[in-house]
Amino acid sequence: MYLDRYSSQVIDESDIEAVCAALNSGVLTQGAAVEAIEKALCEYTLAASAIAVSSATAGLHIAYLAAGLGAGDEIIVPAITFAATANAALYCGAKPVFADISFDDGLIDPRSIESLITPRTKAIAPVHYAGSLCDMKAIGCIAARHNLIVIEDAAHALGGFDAANKSAGTFGAMGVFSFHPVKPITTGEGGAVVTGDPETARKLRLLRSHGIERGGAAEQDMTALGFNYRIGDINCALGASQLKRLDSAIKRREAIASLYDQAFARNERITPLKTPQARHSRHLYPILLDRAVDKAKLCAKLRERNIGAQTHYKPVYRHSFYRSLGYQTPLPNAEAFYEAELSIPCHAALSDDEVYSVIEALNAL
Ligand SMILES: *Cc1c(COP(=O)(O)O)cnc(C)c1O
Repeated sequence: MYLDRYSSQVIDESDIEAVCAALNSGVLTQGAAVEAIEKALCEYTLAASAIAVSSATAGLHIAYLAAGLGAGDEIIVPAITFAATANAALYCGAKPVFADISFDDGLIDPRSIESLITPRTKAIAPVHYAGSLCDMKAIGCIAARHNLIVIEDAAHALGGFDAANKSAGTFGAMGVFSFHPVKPITTGEGGAVVTGDPETARKLRLLRSHGIERGGAAEQDMTALGFNYRIGDINCALGASQLKRLDSAIKRREAIASLYDQAFARNERITPLKTPQARHSRHLYPILLDRAVDKAKLCAKLRERNIGAQTHYKPVYRHSFYRSLGYQTPLPNAEAFYEAELSIPCHAALSDDEVYSVIEALNAL
């Protein structure tokens, strides 16, 4: 099912029951289901605190604010990412600076980061593209040397761990997950920020809810300019139910990925993206197409067969809005990646037959 898209939610009866229970609980926001998903995320990632929010974009915004990002500051982000990684910096009045990636794995290149550091650089936001972990050791060293704050955009990476079983999102000062329907688990719309620092957690909770300190209704005091970035209990009930099946969904995506790996091993026009670590969230199955392949034409032909595929991503500086801000210097690997990359269907709703039909179509076309 859902061959027409590169990724999809998978909803089962237990999800529906969980949502109905939340509807019947008498509390639809700031209730027990929000606390329950935060606790479950802490148990899953071993983060000390998790703050559930209305989207990963909202999470990035308050994470950058909690890091103190403001006017005159710079934050280094990869050029190959969803626009929100950079947009959240602009929300804070700060300037996103685009680093190049490495072509083989789509991940931010630590050497590129190093070359972009100025006295105004305050933070780095590595993106765990497709579910692959960035080189957090190298990035951590650079951050320590230059006194920079690391905020991981882990929107793709819930379920990704390094060889020491350390979860994506727990290497830096903060990590941000997305629960959009295409992401590893969904709450409809939603996300979460994880952190190991209690003071940062307190700031994030404050910014999530109007900057108003909790307390009796009469005792409310607004101490910061916050937002309404809360997520409702119905959404959180869905997410907590999904989280229980995350590992089995990843297993299924891995099985699909290994069918693809085998099938494309002899196709010299298709190179599957390198996926370095053992426990990968498998959010995407990106392939790199040979220069001889006309990607637009290929996608049109795939669409005729009802097979969805999408490029992740156009370099953010190429969007007209960013061009209008004066961003124009192309980064060589980001450009080449944008030309070559295609994410093909890889999600737990696909049957083996559907996977074979994608393989057959790509090898034939
Ligand atoms: C999806 C995504 C986001 C934004 O997530 P939302 O929950 O939709 O706001 C941010 N960064 C990356 C890399 C993403 O893929």
